Amino acid sequence: YIQFEKINKRFGANHVLRDISLTIEKGQLVTLLGPSGCGKSTLLRTLAGLEAPDSGRVILDGEDITGKDPRRRNVGMIFQQYSLFPNMTVRENIAFGLKMQKKLPAEEINERIARVIDMVELHGKEKSLPAQLSGGQQQRVALARSIITEPKVLLFDEPLSAIDAKLRKALQLRIKEIQRSLGITAIFVTHDQDEAMLMSDVIHLFSTGKIEQSGRPIDMYTAPRTRFAAGFIGHYN
Ligand code: ATP
Ligand code: MG
Repeated sequence: YIQFEKINKRFGANHVLRDISLTIEKGQLVTLLGPSGCGKSTLLRTLAGLEAPDSGRVILDGEDITGKDPRRRNVGMIFQQYSLFPNMTVRENIAFGLKMQKKLPAEEINERIARVIDMVELHGKEKSLPAQLSGGQQQRVALARSIITEPKVLLFDEPLSAIDAKLRKALQLRIKEIQRSLGITAIFVTHDQDEAMLMSDVIHLFSTGKIEQSGRPIDMYTAPRTRFAAGFIGHYN
């Protein structure tokens, strides 16, 4: 469903993505797991259209989108810093994506807003401003704002790393549940192996600019193919 074909990216002398090829099946949640600086965000950004690869192609649903305008890719992205609009209420923040995207009747807009507020459990917070919310609540607003446009693909770049451990677990399960129920294809970037083990259908383990090993969480755990993979997934440690 999503294919990265021989993606290369350099920042000056820094060869950040080295001939990366990767296929992601429709409806799956895959994680890009790996240490800081190995190129996870950069690869994700090539799919969102925020970074152009030096060579290689990005295919989404059969279409080569390598040079396509980011706004026309039907891809939602959620970052570590939730970047909500500080002077808009929760409801306005959530509705914003929809207004940008297309003209919908007011009734349909209201229905959709109600539905996503339900999904992320933000009842009663519609009129609050982002500054009046906890980090986890802000992250749920960001999630609602992304899914309301019904994107083909959702990209998560370490969305939970600033959130405390207990709440993080709840949000991991919630994201997984929403992703499953909507049948959205999702790529989730993390350097936390527990998070990857819990959430993924497939894990792609990165080390500096290349994929070290790909597989289901259980296989990554029981059959790491390299010392690096073993160390990172934690089997031999
Ligand atoms: P982290 O877990 O810390 O977020 P990452 O795996 O997401 O790391 P990237 O952000 O993809 O890593 O960065 C990969 C490499 O590319 C790093 O060495 C980084 O310094 C470099 N890099 C990323 N963006 C740029 C940029 N815009 N200009 C120059 N170098 C960059
Ligand atoms: Mg990153």
